[in-house]
Amino acid sequence: MSDIDEARKYIAGGVNSPVRAFKAVGGEPVFIKSASGAWLTTEDGRRLIDYVGSWGPMIVGHAHPEVVAAVVECAKSGLSFGAPTAIETEFARKLCSLMPSMERLRMVSSGTEATMSAIRLARGFTGRDKIVKFDGCYHGHSDSLLINAGSGALTLGVPSSPGVPASLARDTVTLDFNDAASVEQAFSDIGEEIACVIVEPVAGNMNMVLPVPGFLETVRRECTKHGALLIFDEVMTGFRVARGGAQELFDVTPDLTTLGKIIGGGLPAAAFGGRADVMAQLAPDGPVYQAGTLSGNPLAMTAGLTTLRIVEQQGFYESLGDKTARLTTGLEEAAQSAGIALATASLGGMFGFVFSDEDVIRSFAQVQAADIDRFTRFFQGMLAENVYLAPSAFEAGFVSAAHGDAEIAHTVAAAERVFAAL
Ligand SMILES: *Cc1c(COP(=O)(O)O)cnc(C)c1O
Repeated sequence: MSDIDEARKYIAGGVNSPVRAFKAVGGEPVFIKSASGAWLTTEDGRRLIDYVGSWGPMIVGHAHPEVVAAVVECAKSGLSFGAPTAIETEFARKLCSLMPSMERLRMVSSGTEATMSAIRLARGFTGRDKIVKFDGCYHGHSDSLLINAGSGALTLGVPSSPGVPASLARDTVTLDFNDAASVEQAFSDIGEEIACVIVEPVAGNMNMVLPVPGFLETVRRECTKHGALLIFDEVMTGFRVARGGAQELFDVTPDLTTLGKIIGGGLPAAAFGGRADVMAQLAPDGPVYQAGTLSGNPLAMTAGLTTLRIVEQQGFYESLGDKTARLTTGLEEAAQSAGIALATASLGGMFGFVFSDEDVIRSFAQVQAADIDRFTRFFQGMLAENVYLAPSAFEAGFVSAAHGDAEIAHTVAAAERVFAAL
């Protein structure tokens, strides 16, 4: 019996998160036994170049010796206390200094918890119920946010999940990403009812879509004008596209930011934070309740802090960005020689590619109009060439510091062969 059939006997759908099941690309998911640097080793002994990176966290590469050593050392002193520790303060100080819009923060254990808590805080602070999100953006799987969502919800064709009460859905307004005019219109219609706008400043859960000039600025301006809070969901982009996140690159300052993925360095850590006056509304200082048994867990803090110390090093993002751009340029050229239309994007250690005639992908509609069958064949072809891409056309890809010239060259050469056969 295959690994996935055995898993299905005990785990719903055989997986602990839906996209892992390979439903969108067909075939059976590969089971991972171990990983080191840029490479995964499967249970049946294959070695694959990894562009998933545990869906974002592994920016310094798998099993980085410094991160592993720090976590092992920390484990010897106890795994969890449920009481304050010095490393939580040290980590929070580091995060606030790298991302100055965060005057105060709170640690949680997943990106879903971070966005859910930030939304509750925004509603509590403003005394308003309505929230605005963008189609194809994914902010975790809490009820208010699982409406026209991206990532797995999109991959499996259930952008709005059964089980989300209609009453909650009524309070979630969804607009088109990169459509500044629709943001102005929504605020002119119901601006006084909007608690917050939540947005991925670079959309990474509908493949990868960069913000068009003026989009984030318009959202910022309208929120300020109407007393709504702006939440940047940087769970994916934080420390992925730049040291200070997308907010530093695009020079737009949110009221609240959510972080996850990289800040846990591969262990479960996430955070939300922002303006001190807003964060003061959170219990125990204020009335908005939020809590977590394992929040600020010492192992997760240690993995995250050690990871951030590595990405802080001089030249880290320059080198990562160069490598990622070389990968997407290589893919684009390989596609072109095979007469295949491919639009790519890259920023820092994040990239996307869409089988589309468009030069640049600007909207969710353009991603949806792309050739998904071709993606599926490309994905399987690359897997046969020992390159592990995200098993969905609606996910971004990730390059780590451990990806070297050899891995990039292997990937581009593989793509040339696969494109030629598509
Ligand atoms: C991954 C992701 C989340 C959810 O984080 P989890 O840790 O999976 O709950 C939220 N927002 C964005 C932008 C993400 O990429």
